[in-house]
Amino acid sequence: MGHVSDATSTDDQHFDLVVIGGGPGGYAAALYGASAGLNIALVEKDKIGGTCLHRGCIPAKELLETAAIVRTVKHAGDFGVIVEPKSVDWGITMARKQAVIDKLAGGVTTLLKNRKVTLFSGNGSLGPDRVVTIVGDDGETATVTGDAVLLASGSLPRIIPGFEPDGTTVVTSDEFFHLTQIPRRAVVIGGGAIGCEFASTLADLGSSVTILEALPKILPGCDDDVTRVVLQSFKKKGIEIRAGVAVTGHTPMDGGGTTVAFGDGETLETDLVVVSVGRVPFSEGVVSDGTGVTISERGHIEVDELCRTGEPSVWAVGDAIATPQLAHIAFAEGMLIIKDLLGESPAAIDYSRVPWAIYCHPEVAFAGHSEASAKEAGFEVVVSKHRFAGNSRAQILGETDGLVKIIAEKRADGNGGRVLGVHMVGPWVTEQLSGGYLAVNWEATVDEIAEYIQPHPSLSELFGESVIAMTGRSLHG
Ligand SMILES: Cc1cc2nc3c(=O)[nH]c(=O)nc-3n(C[C@H](O)[C@H](O)[C@H](O)COP(=O)(O)OP(=O)(O)OC[C@H]3O[C@@H](n4cnc5c(N)ncnc54)[C@H](O)[C@@H]3O)c2cc1C
Repeated sequence: MGHVSDATSTDDQHFDLVVIGGGPGGYAAALYGASAGLNIALVEKDKIGGTCLHRGCIPAKELLETAAIVRTVKHAGDFGVIVEPKSVDWGITMARKQAVIDKLAGGVTTLLKNRKVTLFSGNGSLGPDRVVTIVGDDGETATVTGDAVLLASGSLPRIIPGFEPDGTTVVTSDEFFHLTQIPRRAVVIGGGAIGCEFASTLADLGSSVTILEALPKILPGCDDDVTRVVLQSFKKKGIEIRAGVAVTGHTPMDGGGTTVAFGDGETLETDLVVVSVGRVPFSEGVVSDGTGVTISERGHIEVDELCRTGEPSVWAVGDAIATPQLAHIAFAEGMLIIKDLLGESPAAIDYSRVPWAIYCHPEVAFAGHSEASAKEAGFEVVVSKHRFAGNSRAQILGETDGLVKIIAEKRADGNGGRVLGVHMVGPWVTEQLSGGYLAVNWEATVDEIAEYIQPHPSLSELFGESVIAMTGRSLHG
């Protein structure tokens, strides 16, 4: 890391806003705030871009794309395209992943510099009176002050005792992106979004994969119909799913690999263990004594609905606070605090209706109530479900697993009223959710959306047709 500051002087400096943490939450606030004319300092101890760019969203999606190419090549013969026997050159795969990361990280850094954000390299710590002390790798120290301070220190992978990562046999997401080869066998501990993305990637790359999940089902939070499709598709890929089993330890084997113990005395030999059991907020050392900032027992920086901490003019956003740990939520919170700081009285984020996207194959995307949660909340609902198997574009792609499910309030005539939730699983649904997300958040009704035309042939027709089917009439479905 080297020098504390890219700025010409490391003397005490004052800014409109000092941001600690250069991940999506921190850099979004810096970019957005600078575009509104604020003078901003951004303190990052590692690399601008944070978890998302360097060991999260971007590398995970980049490797999923390699997996998608493997699938495409595998099925090329179905389209009459005859290809030579294929293999994956992992070196090229990893180099491409890194090139994408480097390009994006360079882009964000350039944007920040172009907007005159002052970048500090070092560990930032907030003290009283919004004084931030920055200590560089070489011990060099600087202090800066801000009219406002944003804490955006992010999160770290949760570690299971006994499964401490060694970087080769036992990894978390931090080490996964530096694997030197594709494992023959892999055990993924944790069947959440990230665990399912890793399992899907590895299975498509040819690994024999088992998911061990302590909860009764994988992908908690997803609508049951959606999870069912993922389960069937994962089964077709050869992924074995063991839900309701806790891991108890592992014993390394001579010559590599390890034996994982789980459940009621069961064991499984594997070459790689991917520990993917969630993330813990990182707030250690970010705040020193004497401020009104409080940290919860679980390590979250405590905030109100506008991301304000207990210290005046100090906000916190992203994975460090107890809101959904998603990069786009960090972006939204970063922009929210700038509006609040500027006195624009922004509306709080409605976390029950934010978009969720899981990029495993088949992809999952949703916003708003599932059928079960809508009923639990006391709504009388109508549900429309349509499968990609009947969609022309999906047939053309050869990607017919999946469905669109819409949950709407039931009107007196039995048809659908206000849309409460949109849930999708299938080809490119992460790119198709936006219409459904807008519908849920705009509180649009089925009749209103049914007026709009979807292009033909397109995957998004399935959303349109699922809506039309709730008007009491229907087209193809
Ligand atoms: C494998 C994986 C896949 C993911 N995929 C997705 C996805 O597809 N979509 C999605 O929305 N989300 C995804 N996420 C989640 C996403 O990465 C996080 O929600 C997001 O990075 C949170 O942003 P943040 O700014 O709060 O924290 P971080 O990205 O963790 O950034 C925090 C930054 O603060 C720095 N920092 C911490 N303390 C200090 C300090 N005291 N001084 C200076 N710097 C400090 C850290 O070095 C870090 O760079 C994924 C995560 C993982 C692990």
